[in-house]
Amino acid sequence: MYDVIIIGGGTSGLMASISAAKHNAKVLLIEKNAELGKKLLLTGGGRCNVTNNRPSDEVIKHIPGNGKFLYSAFSQFDNYNIMSFFQHHGVALKEEDHGRMFPITDRSQTIRDTFIDLIKRYGVTVKTKATVTQIEHEQNKILGITLSSGEFIAGKSIIIATGGKSIPRTGSTGDGYIFAKQMGHTITPLFPTEVPLTSNEPFIQEKTLQGLSLREIALSVVNQKKKVIITHRMDMIFTHFGVSGPAVLRCSSFVHKELSKYPMSDVTLKLDCLPDYSTPQLTQQLIQTQKNDPQKEIKTVLKQYIPERLVLFFLKKQAILPNTALKQLNISDFENLAYLLKEWTFTVNGSLPLEKSFVTGGGIHLKEINPKTMESKIVPHLFFCGEILDIHGYTGGYNITAAFVTGYIAGKHAAQLKSEIYTSL
Ligand SMILES: Cc1cc2nc3c(=O)[nH]c(=O)nc-3n(C[C@H](O)[C@H](O)[C@H](O)COP(=O)(O)OP(=O)(O)OC[C@H]3O[C@@H](n4cnc5c(N)ncnc54)[C@H](O)[C@@H]3O)c2cc1C
Repeated sequence: MYDVIIIGGGTSGLMASISAAKHNAKVLLIEKNAELGKKLLLTGGGRCNVTNNRPSDEVIKHIPGNGKFLYSAFSQFDNYNIMSFFQHHGVALKEEDHGRMFPITDRSQTIRDTFIDLIKRYGVTVKTKATVTQIEHEQNKILGITLSSGEFIAGKSIIIATGGKSIPRTGSTGDGYIFAKQMGHTITPLFPTEVPLTSNEPFIQEKTLQGLSLREIALSVVNQKKKVIITHRMDMIFTHFGVSGPAVLRCSSFVHKELSKYPMSDVTLKLDCLPDYSTPQLTQQLIQTQKNDPQKEIKTVLKQYIPERLVLFFLKKQAILPNTALKQLNISDFENLAYLLKEWTFTVNGSLPLEKSFVTGGGIHLKEINPKTMESKIVPHLFFCGEILDIHGYTGGYNITAAFVTGYIAGKHAAQLKSEIYTSL
């Protein structure tokens, strides 16, 4: 009889197992892969983006999918506690752009090794290559789990840490949603997020801009009422199917929301190639350049602002030949070009599928979860943590933070239930 059985040895399950064991529980961690933390190893380009060094409020803002649910959990264990957790266990961390924290070794393996050492130190029992097929319960009382081998293992509390449905080769194939449903939980619709977007625009289909990357642009999602609903200032890239890169990934959940509201319409994205200029400022600069250097070719001038391929694309849109001298252009040509550089719009019609997304949106309905403990409000002694919950954040350590925080809280509170008198077994 274990006090706490954790299903899933990924990001959240690893933290849950240490937390439960630290709080004096007898813990079993079950993982269907041969190795623990397979997805965690892939994050941050294989360097493991353990968390983010921003104030907690900011971290929550970077979790656009129900981040506010985490306030109560953050008051017990937050991103700074994650950093001290690793530092306390001998992992030096360093900060990179956008507050992203990494082990100083630049190796995910360092993080996984730390968990493996702690698992040994705290006496957590680990079963790998073991797939849970059923959670056993009787009239809302948790009894234990059954493995695909048919083996039954008794447990007082169970934590479901099986992740979402993204990149299933890492083991996250969505088993937890089935268990949760069987226990009476609601699953909000799942959708791909932090995912490249697809487009039917002729310039995408014809691969005109394929491979072109833009740095520090501002990309906005525009709704049906022509209102900007979100803007992200980061890099992006045009691909053979649409657009990708950090700014696009961050916009993707907002595009998905629009598409689910208006499934018959494409969604408009607005690209501002020069967020530090206003449109009138840029127009004035072009007019001034014309005065100073009337013989200069428009292509040469625009190349100072944006990559040549985009210059040629925009000039073609305006039916201006690339070698046209500035003196041959008029104010409205400059206004139109400045407008394109600042406010060009194009449409997207969807994204790559859930299996190819970095993160799964939707999941266990949060109304059914106690935010202080991560315990189910439907089945006592049943806990959830990580991406299976209806929480999704931006890449940059925010999902991992949510997984570690909810894992820590679930482990702690599940362990604290161990002393409850357990009469019927
Ligand atoms: C390539 C990639 C890069 C990413 N980069 C970032 C990043 O930079 N920043 C960021 O914040 N997020 C990033 N993420 C997202 C982040 O990794 C996840 O949100 C996080 O790992 C989720 O943790 P989890 O514990 O919920 O699920 P997982 O880490 O997926 O763990 C779930 C585990 O449960 C196991 N399991 C499932 N079903 C069963 C079963 N029936 N029996 C036994 N075991 C089972 C699985 O094998 C798996 O090991 C990235 C994701 C990917 C795919």
